[in-house]
Amino acid sequence: MSVDFEITQNIAVITIDNPPVNALSTHIRAGLVKAVEQINCDTNIQGVVLTGAGRIFIGGADIKEFGKPPREPFLPDAIDILENCRVPTVAAINGAALGGGLEVALGCRFRVTGVAAKTGLPEVKLGLIPGAGGTQRLPRLIGAVKAGEMITTGKPIPADQALALGVVDAVYADNLLENAISFMRDKLKRGDMGVALSTITKLPSPDATNFSKLEAKTKARARGQLSPIKALEAVRAAGELPFRQGLKRERELFMQCMESPQRAGLIHSFFAQRQVAKIPGLDMSNTRPIKSVGILGAGTMGVGITLAFLAGGYNVSLLDVDAKALDTGMERITKTLQSNLAKGRISKDSLKKQSGNLSAVCDMEALGNSDLIIEAATENLEIKKSIFRDLDRIAKPGAILASNTSYLDINILARETRRQTKRQGDVIGMHFFSPANIMKLLEVVRTDTVGDDVLATIMALGKSIGKITVLSGVCDGFIGNRILKSYRKQADYMVLDGAEPHDIDRVMKAFGMAMGPFAVSDLAGIDIGYFNRRREDETRPKRERYSRIADLLYEQGRLGQKSSAGYYRYEQGSRAPIIDPATTEIIAAERKRLGITPRPFCDDEIRERILYALINEGAKILDEGIAARALDIDMVYVHGYGFPAYHGGPMFYADTIGAKNIYEKITKFAKDDPYFWQASPLLKTLAQSGGTFKAFCA
Ligand code: NAD
Repeated sequence: MSVDFEITQNIAVITIDNPPVNALSTHIRAGLVKAVEQINCDTNIQGVVLTGAGRIFIGGADIKEFGKPPREPFLPDAIDILENCRVPTVAAINGAALGGGLEVALGCRFRVTGVAAKTGLPEVKLGLIPGAGGTQRLPRLIGAVKAGEMITTGKPIPADQALALGVVDAVYADNLLENAISFMRDKLKRGDMGVALSTITKLPSPDATNFSKLEAKTKARARGQLSPIKALEAVRAAGELPFRQGLKRERELFMQCMESPQRAGLIHSFFAQRQVAKIPGLDMSNTRPIKSVGILGAGTMGVGITLAFLAGGYNVSLLDVDAKALDTGMERITKTLQSNLAKGRISKDSLKKQSGNLSAVCDMEALGNSDLIIEAATENLEIKKSIFRDLDRIAKPGAILASNTSYLDINILARETRRQTKRQGDVIGMHFFSPANIMKLLEVVRTDTVGDDVLATIMALGKSIGKITVLSGVCDGFIGNRILKSYRKQADYMVLDGAEPHDIDRVMKAFGMAMGPFAVSDLAGIDIGYFNRRREDETRPKRERYSRIADLLYEQGRLGQKSSAGYYRYEQGSRAPIIDPATTEIIAAERKRLGITPRPFCDDEIRERILYALINEGAKILDEGIAARALDIDMVYVHGYGFPAYHGGPMFYADTIGAKNIYEKITKFAKDDPYFWQASPLLKTLAQSGGTFKAFCA
């Protein structure tokens, strides 16, 4: 860990060297200050180039120092010293300049970057705002609207965009350091000393209308998250206050974020996301090579999974029994790739490469050479059993066989492969979420017989295609859909008893969920749940309450968004839900048929019933070992089901309420419906012992 300092013909080159991400640890901040002080004393030096060793400029704060009392020199002071350097400075941004990294670059007079470098202020994602002058300097550089957009989304931007916005002064294809030195010499020759951003008194491109629009957009996007709102308040201050006062305001807002419980939730999510793919006791070095992937079923999921693997650089063979479905699937893949190109998400070369890696096949034998075969065919046990028998016959020895089933027992599918060869150890679940090329979550389902090398291979493979990969045991619906079913049932019961679907959706959105349960049903299609329920008719326990409302909607052709009517109605071509009196009538008639007198539900009760149903099922899943850790459940819900990351996930959130409080409420709810509200034994134990789910995160 060092800050290196070298002089090349009157230009000092400072290099931040702190692998792996050149984080701004205490020593690095001190080293930077010392280097500037040395430069200030050396009258031979005329200019400074500041860069990072390796492939990153500065990755931001040191996460190892999170939660510890900050030590001097503080970053804002170090940046102040850099900005007041006696000679002009240029940041040579050789790789990611994120958070404090970009704030350091903003403390330089100029910024140049390599083509692959990204710049951004992602603090909002950790529940904070930039706290070292970023909210005051960036608006002075590019204006409040553009800076506000960058800071409130927290999204790092590529070099070409940084140049277009004015964040950087030049982009170089190669030899960044030499080019940065020449850039500095050129500026010196012209007598251009650049501008210290703190000295700017008027923000460029003032645009009050667009700033107000950004405020409204940020509020809607934040879904209750505090940090983007506070960040924009700080940006607004940059336009209204002198620099030093603006910095003070930034600090106040930063501290408000720091003290918010949302910060703790986001930090938990951040670390859980990194921990989730590390399975205690699993040897991750023992994996099988995967280059080619066969996918069975070219429907919604097959198409998405194919796109995910193509983007990851794999060879994919896509198969469907229905030639028309295969054609349609291939067309959808081509269209998505073209649209990715048009939106600048992929290059022409990448499009060519991905298209070249894809082939459509009609004959299962053609998958004989695939290293991994994923079954994404119709959700029907007999169809899937027959597929696994065929795969057993055609797959090469050592190939991994996976199923994308949402609910079915993968142990049964594994057993189908034992007839001819002993492949049970090669069968695993890979439960993607729709659309599989976009959604971040992948549940890997561990069968009773799966080999450790297969498990390690698939956990690593998930990461290689950019997924947050969570391990689940086998049960009906695995971690995610099993919990979903439980909280969905509670929402249905409340509707029977008197709550309106739009009120439940409103309350859950106010809690921060991406969508309420009924809007989700309309999006997914009411037919999907209908067929699932028919599958369960035979085994549904007699004591379980059953709501027919979704069935009634289905029977009236109200399938959700796809038929412009479900729980809500939709205008042609719009996805905005409109409350529909027709649904209210269907619900009222069903209540009447059952002899239920509707009762009012206040928002608190709605929220508690839904969330405690979710938490109770999560606790059962943890107790049964379906999820090994509480954080696995949290990550499934945050990344697959729109649970707000700032609440950390359902189990983290449960700890903030306290097991005792939740257990007491569940006991109260159980008086009306003892079958549904059977408390998890683990929840009961924690309630009695004062324990937490956090203890189940290691
Ligand atoms: P889909 O109906 O859109 O597509 C299924 C495809 O499988 C059809 O094109 C069909 O012709 C094909 N097929 C049927 N039998 C086949 C066989 N023997 N060999 C090859 N292809 C065959 O269904 P989908 O929504 O893509 O779902 C596929 C699987 O993914 C199901 O198991 C489902 O439960 C699961 N899943 C779906 C979602 C979702 O949101 N749609 C999410 C996660 C998992």
